[in-house]
Amino acid sequence: MTNLSNLYRQVIMDHYRNPRNKGITNAPNYVKCHLKNPSCGDMIDVESLVEDGIIKDIHHDGQGCSICCASASIMSEVIKGMKVDDAKYLIDNYLKMVSNQEYDQNVDFDELQVFDGVKDLPARVRCASISSQALLNTLKKEDETDA
Ligand SMILES: [Zn+2]
Repeated sequence: MTNLSNLYRQVIMDHYRNPRNKGITNAPNYVKCHLKNPSCGDMIDVESLVEDGIIKDIHHDGQGCSICCASASIMSEVIKGMKVDDAKYLIDNYLKMVSNQEYDQNVDFDELQVFDGVKDLPARVRCASISSQALLNTLKKEDETDA
């Protein structure tokens, strides 16, 4: 994490040591997604609970590096309570930001902004994105069940 600023590193280490919303419920009304990152050994489960178009709850669990675990924790805090459409837009732009693509600069990433520096660390892009990708997958599955 040599290219990440000191402040960002502190936020990441805080979430890594004290993850928020950790622990999978496996409750039937939650939608779950499991993703792996073979290059780093990260494995993560994310589950979401959506009611009336609002993300009421997010849980995550798994094993991985500090960037993977911290991004899952931060993502769960930032996205919880958002409208599904807003969350999808935020995640879409977050994934672009960490993989160094053009993204909407007006999006408020809140604490997820700490992963901005990951774009300069190509080997870690997947670490910073799998939890958000997994959450996005649960939201898409939710759509399919509604249809
Ligand atoms: Zn990793």
